[in-house]
Amino acid sequence: MARLKHVELRGQIVAACREMNVLGINQGTSGNVSARVAGGFLITPSGVAYDEMAPNQVVEMDLEGGHRGEQRPSSEWRMHRDIYRDRPEAGAVVHTHATFCTALACLHREIPAFHYMVAVAGGASIRCANYATFGTQALSDNMLKALDGRAACLLANHGMICFASDLGKALALAVEVETLARQYWHARQAGKPVLLSEEEMTTVLERFESYGQQGGDPEP
Ligand code: 13P
Ligand code: ZN
Repeated sequence: MARLKHVELRGQIVAACREMNVLGINQGTSGNVSARVAGGFLITPSGVAYDEMAPNQVVEMDLEGGHRGEQRPSSEWRMHRDIYRDRPEAGAVVHTHATFCTALACLHREIPAFHYMVAVAGGASIRCANYATFGTQALSDNMLKALDGRAACLLANHGMICFASDLGKALALAVEVETLARQYWHARQAGKPVLLSEEEMTTVLERFESYGQQGGDPEP
């Protein structure tokens, strides 16, 4: 039998799936996770409960949609494949049905600049992709449009998807976007959130480039 490739990364993908449910940003067999490898990506199998998922069930795919092994890949492999094709900076993708992202997505509502942290996804809003049936190329096409210049978007009547350079960062971004969706939801319950201007969000995006432990001296 051929030796299983990418053993460590497969284990990290299964761990990330379990972590999504522990973090409360996903439930059941909803959602899927993938990570880039040379020539393609590794993705969770379709419809397998995360508690029962073993690393050898994670499916290796190429960028044309071909896959190895007996397991069927996630029904959403097209969204993952299209992110890896379109966005060279993507090293991992997380898709979840997180409750507050999904609630907003059911209203076809984007997350506007109600809080400066909205810039964490790369722009002045986190858009909501138009509805299309799960697992279809139409859904992936709508997603790519909503992801233009962004690393996360909501998916109408469905959930959210995001990507980052690695699995840990993609999971952290998914948590961040769900937190923003929850905060926006609560703010809307109490009134009409005051939105930050495009100009202010441009300033925030610039500051994000040197935020944290990057670069030398602290920001003025
Ligand atoms: P899979 O189990 O096929 O990954 O599907 C879950 C899902 O979230 C579909 O949108
Ligand atoms: Zn889904």
